[in-house]
Amino acid sequence: MLVAVPAETRRGERRVALTPDAVATLTAQGHSVRVESGAGAAALASDEAYRDVGAEVVDGDVLAEADLVAHVRPLLPEQVARLRRGSTTVGFVTGAGELPGIQALRDNGISALAMELVPRISRAQSMDALTSQALVAGYRCALEAAMRLPRFFPLFMTAAGTVPPAKVLVLGAGVAGLQAIATARRLGAVVEAYDVRPSSADEVKSMGATFLDLGLDAVEGTGGYARELSEDRARRQQEALTPFISKSDVVITTAAVPGRPAPQLVTKDMLAGMPAGSVVVDLAAESGGNIEGSVAGEEVQVGGVRVYGMADPASAMPVDASRLYARNVVNLLALGLSEEGFTLDLDDEVLAGACIVHDGVVRHAPTAALLE
Ligand code: NAD
Repeated sequence: MLVAVPAETRRGERRVALTPDAVATLTAQGHSVRVESGAGAAALASDEAYRDVGAEVVDGDVLAEADLVAHVRPLLPEQVARLRRGSTTVGFVTGAGELPGIQALRDNGISALAMELVPRISRAQSMDALTSQALVAGYRCALEAAMRLPRFFPLFMTAAGTVPPAKVLVLGAGVAGLQAIATARRLGAVVEAYDVRPSSADEVKSMGATFLDLGLDAVEGTGGYARELSEDRARRQQEALTPFISKSDVVITTAAVPGRPAPQLVTKDMLAGMPAGSVVVDLAAESGGNIEGSVAGEEVQVGGVRVYGMADPASAMPVDASRLYARNVVNLLALGLSEEGFTLDLDDEVLAGACIVHDGVVRHAPTAALLE
């Protein structure tokens, strides 16, 4: 079987779908791997490192003859048009503006596995790219906040006097939020956190942070995920959070609701009480924003507060983000790989859940509905 790794084409994307150690797993099983020259450069995976593990490195197109294509960001329709009918792709597939690519997969008879649709069950934890990339993003957004704050995160007791630690508030305590908490704690900040899912309270505490009990009703939907808040519940949450925001030096927001735009948690008015020089980092800036006025990839000034909207945070740390992503991909492929090639066994609940397009059909109902 021929596995292809094209260079990522989206602006700013620095990850690569398969790192040399992941390629080594495939070549050891007797598969051929063809990597586009330079595909791993930004993730410090050189052409030579790929050759060393048995891959063929080529200048130009790697898609046309491939049986299986591993990618990070969704393939563009013109890339899909070059694929062989009956081949399989694995990578992120959905997102705003990605319907033409999905249509092309369907119309060209390609089978596509979407990493973001891998079921979040115990058996599939090692294949969960949402989790591995959220971990990178959470770590990174705490560093972005620390770098922008004109004060220390840790407590310092020096001969010249004592410097109190920074106060950090994290809103949303999923994978990314918990990693932001852990990173801010490691840097010595005093951290508080809030999430609509009360089940996250123990995890927050285990990271050494204080979970804020706002005295509000819990909002937990199916599968342990958050639901969208009613207007009244969202307003009450904003009122309850305002005094905590006012006494924080840093606010980091990571809230998301599956399949919905990010909820707006913090208005410009709520930032008005923060000390001058405070920093807000919005991890959800690309998907609608948790902070009113945040712009993805930019820092804007709201009163005396610096508001930074994160954009493609995993690409800011392409080496480890790629390493983890590649392991997720290889672990998913292992469910269908044999010496003969890749078999898409739709009786396997993980492969069935991840399979977004097969046999000319878009199998993921919300995506299919958007195409009608
Ligand atoms: P996510 O990235 O979808 O969302 C981030 C967080 O935002 C969530 O914790 C959510 O509760 C919170 N949130 C949403 N609306 C909010 C609001 N208005 N105010 C405050 N917080 C708000 O979350 P995630 O990291 O993907 O994790 C969510 C769930 O998935 C958890 O139950 C987690 O245990 C589960 N999970 C399971 C697996 C697995 O089994 N493989 C892996 C990762 C996560």
